[in-house]
Amino acid sequence: MESNPICPACQQPNTYTDTVSWFCTDCGHEWNENDLLTDADERQVRDANGTVLNDGDTVTLIKDLKVRGTSSVLKVGTKIKNIRIVDGDHDIDCKTELGPMMLKSEFLKKA
Ligand SMILES: [Zn+2]
Repeated sequence: MESNPICPACQQPNTYTDTVSWFCTDCGHEWNENDLLTDADERQVRDANGTVLNDGDTVTLIKDLKVRGTSSVLKVGTKIKNIRIVDGDHDIDCKTELGPMMLKSEFLKKA
């Protein structure tokens, strides 16, 4: 079950949404969820082509990547499923054929 936010005006939980804005049935206050988002939530991770990446996307490598601490290389064209967007310099958390890995979105493109 999805839990509705409390009304920022009267603190009552009797709110509903039309998927764009939230409404309060108690005081009639109306607000947009985007107003409440932090910068972190609005951060967008883009691939080498500038396409926005999302959790669960499938990507392919656009260049060979040496795996740190090993002699293994992830080859260009390697397909990686079900990526997860994270904060940081290496902003993609994923599982590759060589194990779990953190990658940079600039070396990936959406499949
Ligand atoms: Zn209210």
